[in-house]
Amino acid sequence: NSQAERPALTLLIAAPRGFCAGVDRAIEIVERAIQKYGAPVYVRHEIVHNRYVVDSLKEQGAVFVEELDEVPEGAPVVFSAHGVPKSVPAEAERREMIYVDATCPLVSKVHRQAERQIEKGRHIIFIGHAGHPEVIGTMGQVEEGEITLVETVADVEQLEFEPGIELSYLTQTTLSVDDTAEVIAALHERFPEIHGPKAEDICYATSNRQAAVKRIAPASDLVLVIGAPNSSNSLRLVEVAERLGTDARLIQRAEEIDPSWLDGVGTLGLTAGASAPEKLVREVVERISEWREVHEETIVAAEEKMVFKLPRELAD
Ligand code: SF4
Repeated sequence: NSQAERPALTLLIAAPRGFCAGVDRAIEIVERAIQKYGAPVYVRHEIVHNRYVVDSLKEQGAVFVEELDEVPEGAPVVFSAHGVPKSVPAEAERREMIYVDATCPLVSKVHRQAERQIEKGRHIIFIGHAGHPEVIGTMGQVEEGEITLVETVADVEQLEFEPGIELSYLTQTTLSVDDTAEVIAALHERFPEIHGPKAEDICYATSNRQAAVKRIAPASDLVLVIGAPNSSNSLRLVEVAERLGTDARLIQRAEEIDPSWLDGVGTLGLTAGASAPEKLVREVVERISEWREVHEETIVAAEEKMVFKLPRELAD
């Protein structure tokens, strides 16, 4: 295409975007486990919610399963970054399996907080999305009946507890910062004595990516979010843009972009969820450049320097 046929497009790229420290670590754990134990290494659940990442690990010798009983005797298994209920490592111990836990340390921190609340004799109200693996994992740190899931302010209105019961709340790490603040406010209103975590459970990567979308969305005609439909933090990025009145679309790969989406778009925002590699961002920029003369601008909302240590058994 000649330049004349490619109208100009301002592309606002959010920073931070894409991989967080927990995702980086989880992928490295699988790669190192394959080096150490040899292929195949089994992984319980998608290590992170991104098909490109899962497919490239499959090529290196990872085999993805949903439950431990799909792992053959003697084969090593990695637990995903989202965390697992206590019953999973317990079952792995019982079967004398070799297992490596890739649970993000920030999720493990919530697991320990949950245990501590129960030790203090409190009932936990957990703010999260039903069915998400992190929610299943965190709720599975304590006995059934010790923890109640709420998703919305309306759920909080429905809660009923015996008088005198001591309450505390915890949250999933990848929630909407704004929605969660509303749910927490509703909890405080209904249960003024409720205990909360000292530091917020929504992780730094989730809050920073939402803050960056808030910076690009108001100036954009459309925001593209690279992420999987089962990725909680990516879905939240779409919502954040939409709430600011900007159309937003979740895409997994560049090839999904329909050129007609860019009709009338002079400024396009672009970001990626915590499980999406930067390569997919570059792919999107390249595809858009086929149709438009792209002027890239990076909008930085925060600097990130977080790195998590590998589990001892896989460290150098
Ligand atoms: Fe950990 Fe947050 Fe990344 Fe989840 S999004 S893996 S909690 S750093």
